[in-house]
Amino acid sequence: MIGILRPDFQYGSIQDIPVEDLLSNGIKGLLLDLDNTISPWNETSLTGEVIDWFKKIKIQGIKACIISNNRHPDRVSAVADVLDILYVYQAAKPRKKAFLKGLKTLELKKSEAAVVGDQLFTDVLGGNRIGMMTILLPPIDEREFAGTKVLRFMEKIVGRKVKYTRKLAKSSDGLARL
Ligand SMILES: [Mg+2]
Repeated sequence: MIGILRPDFQYGSIQDIPVEDLLSNGIKGLLLDLDNTISPWNETSLTGEVIDWFKKIKIQGIKACIISNNRHPDRVSAVADVLDILYVYQAAKPRKKAFLKGLKTLELKKSEAAVVGDQLFTDVLGGNRIGMMTILLPPIDEREFAGTKVLRFMEKIVGRKVKYTRKLAKSSDGLARL
């Protein structure tokens, strides 16, 4: 049962996700969480590293769509527009429809896309439930939506250590990395 809360991969930040790892897993598109995954909660600020990473995946032909539970379309579109990617707001993760809507937006099958997010109970649980590859990142910032704090407490019980990752990412020297 707890396996559904285990991500396939974990990395230290979004810009640390190697494009080659995505390509070697047959990934052609990403469904990305917004708050505390791409930018700090309720902010539209983006670092240069994040912007560069999105340019890099685009050059490699990987499409991207934000799927956010955030209820404010302006907040979600402000970031999506800067990154020149698609978005779904008020997505209702971890419900299946959130991910199916994202896949439809990207025109990809679930085997061709991965979920990227900072939460076990919305991003990882939802992605695993429909059988997509899941990538967990640490939250950018400690500030978050009040409801998220409850889920963080539950994450502490379940645990989100690197050893709970299904497939540890391997670097060229063969060592697992986070
Ligand atoms: Mg988040």
